[in-house]
Amino acid sequence: MRECFELRETDAGGRIGELTVPRAGVTVETPALLPVINPNLDTISPRRLAEEFGAEILITNSYIIHGTEDVREQAIAEGLHELLDFPGAIMTDSGSFQLSEYGDIDVTTEEILEFQHEIGSDIGTPVDIPTPPDVARERAEDELGTTQERLEVAEDVDTGDMLVSAPVQGSTYPDLREEAGRHADATDLDVFPVGAVVPLMNDYRYDDMIDVVAAAKRGLGADAPVHLFGAGHPMMFALGVVMGCDLFDSAAYALYARDDRYLTVRGTRQLADLEYLPCSCPVCTSHSPDDLRSLSDRDREEELAAHNLHVTFAEIRRIKQAIRAGNLLELVEQRARAHPTMLDGYRTLLDHAAQLEQVDPVSKGAFFYTSHESARRPEVLRHHRRLARLETPDSLFLTEGEPVRGDDFDCSWRVEPPFGPFPRALSKSYPLTAEVPARTDRAALEAAAEGVCRLVETNPETDVALGHRGWPSEVLARLPDGVELIDLTAA
Ligand SMILES: [Zn+2]
Repeated sequence: MRECFELRETDAGGRIGELTVPRAGVTVETPALLPVINPNLDTISPRRLAEEFGAEILITNSYIIHGTEDVREQAIAEGLHELLDFPGAIMTDSGSFQLSEYGDIDVTTEEILEFQHEIGSDIGTPVDIPTPPDVARERAEDELGTTQERLEVAEDVDTGDMLVSAPVQGSTYPDLREEAGRHADATDLDVFPVGAVVPLMNDYRYDDMIDVVAAAKRGLGADAPVHLFGAGHPMMFALGVVMGCDLFDSAAYALYARDDRYLTVRGTRQLADLEYLPCSCPVCTSHSPDDLRSLSDRDREEELAAHNLHVTFAEIRRIKQAIRAGNLLELVEQRARAHPTMLDGYRTLLDHAAQLEQVDPVSKGAFFYTSHESARRPEVLRHHRRLARLETPDSLFLTEGEPVRGDDFDCSWRVEPPFGPFPRALSKSYPLTAEVPARTDRAALEAAAEGVCRLVETNPETDVALGHRGWPSEVLARLPDGVELIDLTAA
């Protein structure tokens, strides 16, 4: 077990955890948001981030501090906590982002890690190579090799009780991301950023982002705290968390505010376009859109940044509550409706249902079937696997209707889309207590038919009849030959 990270509660791939940051003497509850602080200009002061917004951890860039002489001298003399006036944990980035933007930086991993340690950082970062998406495989492999060498260098740098992150790269090659995850996990480093996903998010490629994270997670152990590096829009936090990300950093709250952009969990709005403020944070309850527009540039930026932060932290709290309540996937289904590309992300997530199923709790509150995508949730997959292990009598009536039908069958089981058949004794156990719409859909019926198939395949000796409520012929065609069909809706 990694000593710095402990899981408290899980739901699908999402988890509530505790990240112990020894150098700061604090424990950060995850999922956590790290606001990004530019040491040269702060829109919202770090002290205010802690006191008004409850920020337990923030991130700043050690490369900028290193390269700005007066700030560097002050950081060395006073330490980062004094410099920024922040009581929580401080993570520092290394300049890899600058490397990806400007192509070159002039520090080594040893130098920047020693510098981060010297200025009192609580979580330091080596200089990895953030390989962009879609590059040639050879380049992705070469750069990953360099990143891995630097992680090995980082292991040997004396950083005391500063935690050190081990970025996971590999561009858009799932096998490289998985390999990178496995390599990083085998080091004695502490926190695992999935790197270079910003270009994917900027291009709304949430499907590719999910594939990248899923691959990295397969390589990393369950006890590895995972940072989705550069992901700061609250719209996509639920999707990141459900895949198993624990830390997010937001520069977006300030950058968007500078640009008169207003964050919501359903996407970004231009202040110029808003006639109402769909939020109940202190900024939005004390201003109208016109009030905000009439402020000076500096005041408007600060108010918008404060709103953006309120929305961002609220979404993190909402996600934690959803994990506690066991309805994170329901929240993800709602969020996926914010944008068609988010729906692509959610559908891609369901391609990884088997991976999520391995960590999803066996029992939760209630399963709500709220979209046809619900038919592909990990719980449905698990039920189908379970069907292959259930014993059946010689003859079995599977029915959406009444349990008995004369003496023709030894036993009668319930059928409930999207799960399919199950013994009545299981009716009160999760997920079979699901709330499903009375007007079912094709995806749920197809999943139920798949359940019947699994049962019949593993019990070829059993005579099976299915009592269904008018399933379409295309769905019935999926059932194995030999299953007797009884349409309960027929007169
Ligand atoms: Zn607001």
